[in-house]
Amino acid sequence: MTFKDLEIIAPIQEALDSKGYTIPTPIQQQAIPILLEGRDLLGCAQTGTGKTAAFAIPIIQQLFNSSNTQKRPKHIKALIVTPTRELAIQIADNFTEYSKNTHLKNTVIFGGVKQASQVGQLRQGIDILIATPGRLLDLINQRLLSLRHIEHFVLDEADQMLDMGFINDIKKILRLLPEQRQSLFFSATMPQNIKDLSQTILNNHETVTIKPKQATAEKVGQSVYFVKKSDKTKLLIDLVNENPNDTIIVFSRTKHGADKVVKKLAQVGIKSAAIHGNKSQNARQRALGAFKNGELNILIATDIAARGIDVSELSLVINFDIPNIPETYIHRIGRTGRAEASGNAVSFCDVEERAYLRDIEKLINQKIPIVEEHSYIDDSKESNQKAPSKQKQQARRKGSVNKGRPKNRYSK
Ligand code: AMP
Repeated sequence: MTFKDLEIIAPIQEALDSKGYTIPTPIQQQAIPILLEGRDLLGCAQTGTGKTAAFAIPIIQQLFNSSNTQKRPKHIKALIVTPTRELAIQIADNFTEYSKNTHLKNTVIFGGVKQASQVGQLRQGIDILIATPGRLLDLINQRLLSLRHIEHFVLDEADQMLDMGFINDIKKILRLLPEQRQSLFFSATMPQNIKDLSQTILNNHETVTIKPKQATAEKVGQSVYFVKKSDKTKLLIDLVNENPNDTIIVFSRTKHGADKVVKKLAQVGIKSAAIHGNKSQNARQRALGAFKNGELNILIATDIAARGIDVSELSLVINFDIPNIPETYIHRIGRTGRAEASGNAVSFCDVEERAYLRDIEKLINQKIPIVEEHSYIDDSKESNQKAPSKQKQQARRKGSVNKGRPKNRYSK
């Protein structure tokens, strides 16, 4: 199947051609026809599957077909709400690229920066708004924008949104949307609370599920190093030195941990930068920009900050810590092997993290190969830890229980 078979209008088709996209990804093949019919959609898919284009293309097409005026729009017609600033910027960039041959205008708003230039953009008139929840509500409260004319609403990364405590903001936003609208709901995982939330948003929807298993197994080479906590930095330095031409993202569970890795690398002359929530928006964008244009080839990131990173040449993901939420592993390794590319993901697992590793292997339904020979092999035996019960896992996600499990390596 090609994009031509999906009956994409010429202006979008040409934009896709110029990006070299001819074959729609599975989520695009399934979602685009449903959305072009005006139906609601529940999409279970993570970043890296091409989901942004899966919703951006049909929204642009529908807006293009319903308004052919070249005048600046009076009302915002499409709203995409997403949890992080990086993701918001990336989605807006995608909209800009796919709609470059149309009259449609978009803008992006997010917190952590002054609002003046965002307000200026809104005042000029836009068709499509990409927003993080806090700033969106802030500007609505100041009566600087209204959602009364929204025709297409996308809630992106719903699971992450709830993890970040945005549930009340989302409920407030929902109350401000018109009843009559097309709604799209995307989440990488579908626990019961996410399903319940989707029911309050969607109406007579279709469902598209792109299994994470496909994304992990097929494209990303995975391996795990059993290593002592105290040897992880040395192992990282060796790997970086062995792969001088790779573009690498190193994941750290905490902000403090990310800064510590940057310092340790600097001590041996390896340049890297950290991106996490304590860094200013400008510092994050600067680091990301340097990484994307090749000035910097190692980025140390926390999970939330990394959600929006889309770097096509990313060749290696290193899990410096094993994530305690198994779905996070899929998100992390999805940063490499995107779309048609292939990549590698290696994980550093200390003895306390082996239970986390088992949770991950259960979720992806495959054993991650162990690197049997390396300089820092940790052959410690695990203390008698059992895998956690379902309830404990859920409680852990909510941050209330950490009994019998490894503590976070660094204080937050
Ligand atoms: P996403 O899941 O939206 O973050 O997209 C993952 C990456 O795949 C992004 O770099 C997109 O630009 C790219 N992409 C999206 N659709 C296609 C396609 N049909 N062919 C090739 N690359 C694509």
